[in-house]
Amino acid sequence: MRIFILSMVLGLLGAVSVLAAVEIALEGDPVTVIDEVYHRDGMAYVAIDDLLPPLRLTGTWNAVEHVYRIEGAFGTALISPGSRFLRQGGSFELLAQKPRFIDGRLRVSDDFIRKHLIPLADVRVIYRDLNPGVSPPVDESSAMDRLFSFLLRKEKPNDAPQLRAIALDPGHGGQDPGSIGLNGVKEKDVTLALAQHLQKQVKMELGIPVYLTRDADYGLGLEDRFRTAAQPDVDALLLLHAQSSFGLQAQGVFLYVRPIELNEDTPASVDESQKLAEILSAALTQAGFVVQGILSAPLLPMGQGDLPTVLVEAGFLTNPDDRPILDAAEGQQRFAAALFAGLKKFGEKRQKSGDL
Ligand SMILES: [Zn+2]
Repeated sequence: MRIFILSMVLGLLGAVSVLAAVEIALEGDPVTVIDEVYHRDGMAYVAIDDLLPPLRLTGTWNAVEHVYRIEGAFGTALISPGSRFLRQGGSFELLAQKPRFIDGRLRVSDDFIRKHLIPLADVRVIYRDLNPGVSPPVDESSAMDRLFSFLLRKEKPNDAPQLRAIALDPGHGGQDPGSIGLNGVKEKDVTLALAQHLQKQVKMELGIPVYLTRDADYGLGLEDRFRTAAQPDVDALLLLHAQSSFGLQAQGVFLYVRPIELNEDTPASVDESQKLAEILSAALTQAGFVVQGILSAPLLPMGQGDLPTVLVEAGFLTNPDDRPILDAAEGQQRFAAALFAGLKKFGEKRQKSGDL
């Protein structure tokens, strides 16, 4: 039976301090002081790479799978910045906070250290937060504003090609399968396949960069998704999704754009997202797909800013006509080709109209 000694040196309640540190050691070992402690949302975060050696555990980051693997006598445990779970074999522990990248290193919360990491060590652990509970409260609305204002286009040079780069966000991923359709087809797999077909075609025919928010089956937070799309040369963003419904009848493509922001900086007449959606709709219709409409999406996380952005609900995975298209390479390629035709036309129109 393992016993954990958790002791805390309480700081002055309410005091705000920049300095912070934690001490960690297996009982009997010299104490390791980690003074790189970040406070976010009222919680202390410490780099996982700093925590493991004192616990005689090892860790490796897999950039392809977006997973951090913790190994020790207990076996293997997996965490990911995109996931709220710690996975050990077939079992999952729910985390109060996801691990997160701060200042280039993967960091875990104080809560994670106490409840999930320390129990992985095979002897007693001493862990002290030398300066607990002292971070100022985070203003939620300003955090959301920062997140959503990513999608602002930078000035485009005059000699730039029609489109300099595009960003694609295959919806869902990892532990979030999205909607599930007939034959168990998962939205996360369909969206990734569509993105990859489209990426290939854009690269081959336009020779411009295509940024994918994810290129494999892993989960991502909103912030990571928008950060990818916020590259300075991105001229259009497509968010790719597919739906499911309780009935089999619901069918067809829906395109969503941000509600028009009525303020002086963004005159409603220059709504390029709407233009992009209309061009995509025409291209999809021409390719034989059923487009049900272009809708405004106040509830969908689509960011803010002037980057032309369209959320594509590619069809219903529960519909007997849509599903075989979205679930097969041939259909995915055809759908991606229609989106490509629309994007290409959008680029040409923008160049012609001098709207750079
Ligand atoms: Zn979705």
